[in-house]
Amino acid sequence: MGKKVLISGASIAGPALAYWLGRHGFEVTVVELAPHLRKGGQSVDFRGDTHLTVLERMGVLDELRRVQTGGSPITFVDETGRARLRLPAEFAGGDIEVLRGDLARILHAHSLPYAEYRFGESVAELRQDDAGVHVRFRSGAAGTFDLVIGADGLHSNIRRLAFGPEEQYVTHLGYYAAAWSLPNHLGVGFGEGSVGVNVPGRFAAVGTGKQDPQTAGAFFVFAADQLIYDRHDQERQKAIIAEAFAGIGWQVPRLLATLREADDLYFDSISRADVPSWSNGRVALVGDAACGATIGGMGTGTGIVAAYALAGELTAADGDHAAAFTRYEGLLREYAQRCQKGGDRTGRFLAPGSFGLRMRNWTLSRPRILNWMLAEGKKVTGIDLPEYRQLEASLG
Ligand SMILES: Cc1cc2nc3c(=O)[nH]c(=O)nc-3n(C[C@H](O)[C@H](O)[C@H](O)COP(=O)(O)OP(=O)(O)OC[C@H]3O[C@@H](n4cnc5c(N)ncnc54)[C@H](O)[C@@H]3O)c2cc1C
Repeated sequence: MGKKVLISGASIAGPALAYWLGRHGFEVTVVELAPHLRKGGQSVDFRGDTHLTVLERMGVLDELRRVQTGGSPITFVDETGRARLRLPAEFAGGDIEVLRGDLARILHAHSLPYAEYRFGESVAELRQDDAGVHVRFRSGAAGTFDLVIGADGLHSNIRRLAFGPEEQYVTHLGYYAAAWSLPNHLGVGFGEGSVGVNVPGRFAAVGTGKQDPQTAGAFFVFAADQLIYDRHDQERQKAIIAEAFAGIGWQVPRLLATLREADDLYFDSISRADVPSWSNGRVALVGDAACGATIGGMGTGTGIVAAYALAGELTAADGDHAAAFTRYEGLLREYAQRCQKGGDRTGRFLAPGSFGLRMRNWTLSRPRILNWMLAEGKKVTGIDLPEYRQLEASLG
């Protein structure tokens, strides 16, 4: 019946897909390169009915509501600390905002009864034929799966192995983003969302949610051409960030001092993945691997929606994976690209040049423009999804 599935990546899209496939009777294995579930990352948000409906159908919406941050109003200040722009919680926080680490933890726990997880593991080689996908793992283990799904993010390993090198699919958008947690000894922004300083091409923010007053989150964005560095070398990444923000005032030196101790640094280029076809034979992509945009492109909501649709189509196709992959992509591609567009603007929005900075602050200080942008944002994330009702009914 073609029901043995390997998923690469245990962040957001991977566990969401594992849950749905497992519930639909597939035999699911998830491999994650990190030795344990990765914590870290700032807040991620869901907005609009489609996101909320899928979360509700998954049975995680109430739990997410319990851990939600309550949204993150942002105050942009200059180097003297003077406020230049205030954005309401809804702007960045959507309908429900949670810490990425909380979301990953909840999705993983939710999918555990339905999937086997192998941490510290990764696919080293894969080869497919009519009998399945023959996989050799980094650990030396081997196995044959009916399907392999890459849910391993913007720099997807499965995409590289089954579709070709990253350079073919990923476009650098001119910015980098970093996030890490720190003790809230600065007391900055507590209970008020985030406060961030702008100088041209740089944005450095700190904030706390409502969940844990002892812990704050730093979030930095800066403009830079593509940098060459090892994505697994955190010390090098910390040095890049420190260099990019050297000499900036406000709280930046104190925030940089906490970076040295950070053990949950998230650092990535703001980039966009465009893959002309999301499947190649028995291998398919979901989440950021297929259509990521790092930040601001609704990648988390799209990943959840795509996982739901991919699992639904694979179940409905009853063994015809080619038909399922075609329907999955037909349903989602235009939607994902529409959402992804937001990510093209994120860097320029958060860390513009000097003219852009004045324009942004002036424009968004106008409530009518701000409200129009909020309303438009909600429209982007809507899509008519099949209910896969017959599947739901058979699951009871
Ligand atoms: C630690 C972390 C922090 C993040 N912080 C933010 C944030 O602050 N704001 C924001 O908007 N987005 C953040 N993101 C990105 C956000 O999670 C995604 O854009 C979105 O949720 C889509 O998720 P995804 O599951 O498709 O990809 P990702 O969340 O990128 O997850 C990909 C997963 O695949 C794993 N992986 C990578 N290579 C391999 C391999 N060779 N073998 C097996 N597994 C592999 C990764 O370790 C990761 O767990 C973060 C992602 C991570 C991993």
